[in-house]
Amino acid sequence: MNLEQQDKKYVLQTYARNYTNFVKGVGSALYDENGRDYIDFASGIGVSSVGHGNKKLVSAICEQAKNIIHISNLQVIEPQAKLAQKIVDLSGYDMGLFFANSGAEANEGAIKIARKYGEINFDEKRYKIITLEHSFHGRTITTVKATGQESFHTPHFSPYPDGFSYEKSIIDVYKAIDNETVAVLIELVQGEGGVQPFEKKEIQELAAYLKKDGILLIVDEVQTGVYRTGEFLASNLYEIEPDIITLAKGLGGGVPIGAVMTKHKEVLSIGDHGSTFGGNYLSTCAGLAVLEILEELYESGAIASTHLYLEKKLESIVKQYGNLFEKEVGLGLMRGLRAKNVSIQSSVQSRSLEEGLIVLKAGRNTVRFLPSITITKDEIDEGFKRFEKAISSL
Ligand SMILES: *Cc1c(COP(=O)(O)O)cnc(C)c1O
Repeated sequence: MNLEQQDKKYVLQTYARNYTNFVKGVGSALYDENGRDYIDFASGIGVSSVGHGNKKLVSAICEQAKNIIHISNLQVIEPQAKLAQKIVDLSGYDMGLFFANSGAEANEGAIKIARKYGEINFDEKRYKIITLEHSFHGRTITTVKATGQESFHTPHFSPYPDGFSYEKSIIDVYKAIDNETVAVLIELVQGEGGVQPFEKKEIQELAAYLKKDGILLIVDEVQTGVYRTGEFLASNLYEIEPDIITLAKGLGGGVPIGAVMTKHKEVLSIGDHGSTFGGNYLSTCAGLAVLEILEELYESGAIASTHLYLEKKLESIVKQYGNLFEKEVGLGLMRGLRAKNVSIQSSVQSRSLEEGLIVLKAGRNTVRFLPSITITKDEIDEGFKRFEKAISSL
């Protein structure tokens, strides 16, 4: 039995998988079992934030693994407390954190905080949460319901929890607020929905409006967080102060971790929420190493120069290949090329892989670029050489 057959026989088939077998990674290069190299512009969907085989991260994980991997949240966990402080310091917000294992779980935590907040702060309990069309918030029953894409609300998994509604635009959010609304949940740059950023000004106005009425602003930074958009958080870039922020993807550099942070530190009390694995020694020690690496890179100006470099490359592609792409979209190292149609999107992705380049899809027609934050200019150059080769025949 080969690997593909083994996967198909024993792993539940929930993904439309590619069967290239990667066996080695160095920086933003991946190698398959035949020794062929690929440039990685996907970083495991924005997760491998410091690239593959990063020495500092690997040694932090190995040292921690040789000692304690896990005890439980019934004991204090030193790297967890340190990571919480580090995230708070980098964010500039006076918040407290709860650690989970994924983005969906972080969002579940955010929804729980919002619902309890809605109970203790209003005479009549408020529980409704407004989200945006084309959003993505996770795959649990509740976060799927929070996701503003009808195709995710398949009747297979019904009934779904009540209290979620979806609006086309920020303007429509104002109209949708009623006296049961407790929160608005948004991604500042919609990732899965098509790498679509919201306008800074309209977000700032929304934030101010919600604050005035005591309605919570929850920002899902599972994809935008941890320097993805150029600042530590997209909320920093947009210069807003949300009530609740969720993180996951890039935080552990590939070790599963999620976090929900809030300035309403008093809402959850003992027994309200928990996780067996969340915030254990291994994942929080990985998070600390990732943040040390990326903070240094940020301070040196390297992250800003990488994203300008990537942006220039994408702009020149749009100029040259107007037959394939309408425009360049996104922020920082969260970028996309809006393809003219869905079939171009698909063939760009598959042709890229044939040329040794991994790119992602987003929404219905966007080719998505989510490289590691540590990607080098040489790796970007090599990636685009392959990208041009891939698309010039289309
Ligand atoms: C990926 C993603 C999630 C879900 O994260 P998981 O770790 O897969 O549960 C939630 N929100 C956003 C914005 C994401 O990009």
